[in-house]
Amino acid sequence: MKTSEKIYQENSYLTELEAEVISCIKKDDCYEAILDKTIFYPHMSGGQPKDEGTINSIKACDVQERGDEIVHMLKEEISGIVTLNINFCKRFDHMQQHTGQHILSYAFSNLFDGNTVGFHMSDNYTTIDLDIPLTEEMTEQAEQLCNKIIYENKIVVAKNYSYEEAMKLDLRKDPLKLDVLRIIEVENCDISACGGTHVRNTGEIGIIKVTKTEKYKQGTRVEFLCGKRALDDYIIKNRNISALSSLLTCRSDMLMDNFEKIINENKKLKKDMNNLNNILNEYKARDLKINAIENENVKYIFSLSDEDVKDLRYICSKITEDENYVAVMVSETESGCSLVIGQSKNMNYDIKNIFEKCRVIINGKGGGNNFLLQCTGDKSNGAECLDFAKNMFLK
Ligand SMILES: [Zn+2]
Repeated sequence: MKTSEKIYQENSYLTELEAEVISCIKKDDCYEAILDKTIFYPHMSGGQPKDEGTINSIKACDVQERGDEIVHMLKEEISGIVTLNINFCKRFDHMQQHTGQHILSYAFSNLFDGNTVGFHMSDNYTTIDLDIPLTEEMTEQAEQLCNKIIYENKIVVAKNYSYEEAMKLDLRKDPLKLDVLRIIEVENCDISACGGTHVRNTGEIGIIKVTKTEKYKQGTRVEFLCGKRALDDYIIKNRNISALSSLLTCRSDMLMDNFEKIINENKKLKKDMNNLNNILNEYKARDLKINAIENENVKYIFSLSDEDVKDLRYICSKITEDENYVAVMVSETESGCSLVIGQSKNMNYDIKNIFEKCRVIINGKGGGNNFLLQCTGDKSNGAECLDFAKNMFLK
């Protein structure tokens, strides 16, 4: 069978092409069309994403490479001579990212002997995996070299070589052992085997910007943006920085200092608030103790409030610091109830037994020891829970 000519490799800029349908076979709910030639770059795992476009105005849902064939998946049947169109915005974006990747991999290899052992391109970002650790300085140095190569507007050429011929070249990476290898050469710079689509001159990449690095296996995963993607990212970042600057009414170069100041102030405020809250809770404990119900030398406190469980626990522990106290504290909000039951260290009520019964009333979850028990439930029936506890203790 005739195989499809990969026109996208000969001319990555061609957006329209007439081709002849060799076969079009229905499979499940799709037609799989093979043409004598194609401008559609196929879907590959990792690497460069497939092209988007149409054949005779019918959307190509997927494009796959099977052996030597490029298979186009369509919802309708096609035959004869057809017209192929690809989305060039998307294609050119892929060309920018892909050529950028060659240059970035070259920079890390040339400057630090770092090998690219992985490459992934998605619709939003591209990553390469290096086998070396990176410092911030190393990344910046590589970025500088990459962008210098862009300013020099070097020619990018694709040429086919036999394996033997290719091995005589100064390849950045050992290629697969194929009879014919497609070699991409960035003038006086990177030489590597690749089947993807690339720009003609490095200037078309516009910019290469690393956006993130993270430790990956023994090396580093480098995330980067090229061309329009980098510009779009810059626009968003600049917009955010400007918004933050006007929010803090400061220049953008003062943002870091101001944020640090705000974070430290916030930490101090939280600490102060916590201290004040504890003081307030101590007053509340004292107040509750004044109004305790005394029965056979035991002082009982039953309270219903809207405090959070943390405060209830604090107040309860303050009350039971003195001898002969039993405290049942319930708080109620729209979303449910919290319950804390405690007793002084010299007491030996079986408060766990009463707690368990009260807990069921508010559908609470929690526990504790025989001197302090707490739970929070999703039923807003605090008064019922408190009355029940009162009856149990004072019966
Ligand atoms: Zn490539």
